[in-house]
Amino acid sequence: MARAAPRPRKASRLAPRKASRLARRSAADPAPARHAKKAGARRRPAAPHPSLRAPSRPGSPPRAARSRTRPPRRHAAPFDPAAASRLFDCLAAVIPEPKSELHYASPFELLVAVILSAQATDKSVNLATQRLYAHAHTPEAILAMGETGLLEYIRTIGLAPTKARNIVATCRLLLERHGGRVPATREALEALPGVGRKTANVVLNTAFGEPTLAVDTHVFRVANRTGLAPGKTVREVEDGLLDIVPERHLKHAHHLLILHGRTTCQARKPACPACAIRAECRWPGKTQAD
Ligand code: SF4
Repeated sequence: MARAAPRPRKASRLAPRKASRLARRSAADPAPARHAKKAGARRRPAAPHPSLRAPSRPGSPPRAARSRTRPPRRHAAPFDPAAASRLFDCLAAVIPEPKSELHYASPFELLVAVILSAQATDKSVNLATQRLYAHAHTPEAILAMGETGLLEYIRTIGLAPTKARNIVATCRLLLERHGGRVPATREALEALPGVGRKTANVVLNTAFGEPTLAVDTHVFRVANRTGLAPGKTVREVEDGLLDIVPERHLKHAHHLLILHGRTTCQARKPACPACAIRAECRWPGKTQAD
């Protein structure tokens, strides 16, 4: 028996429209159709040819130079303990006396000076404390002066009213809870008004020799630039430094990094050609000799 010829398939009503749509799309974009899979996905416009780009604004560096001065967000490789050890040996060799630039003669004077130094220069704090400590340098004496009396001595320092309030309250707590002495534990220090983690770290390290690492603006910058302990937050940098700094340098690492940041690795124009740790620094944007 002869087999019946197969019935021709019913042509889809959408087929011609779909075919022409695909043809239009492939003419406009020869890239694989996967880009167009998501309905409504926006296509990124192609970058214009370099010759068609808008010229740089007058006075600004050319595009190529701008991209050269903008370092990549990630460093080539993370620091290893041997490289960190070389870096701190070099810093210790050029900074033989890594110590605070604040003037103080007791843990209490240091505590007050560090509270005052928030968002102020060490120089301005020293000028104020020189007069203040000649008049009052104990919790009892400063408490007796009160906020108004203390303000007379620290008026030239930023945030003076808040700092005066915190210092007087701290003096009261020192007398009530610690017999007028500065406590040597982080918990007790951080319980004092105006004392945060950074101030506690400075006091623990500088007054009591604890291997803590306070991260200020200089330490934050140097740790990130060099690649020693990159981090987006102060705590991230602090933890990274505590992991990588060799034990024998832990006590002085804070001052080594601060002094290096102040004198050499400055924010605006780091002196890379004269830098003692240039060989270990991983910053791709190092400055060149003039
Ligand atoms: S080489 Fe330059 S960027 Fe690196 S630590 Fe030294 S001064 Fe800072």
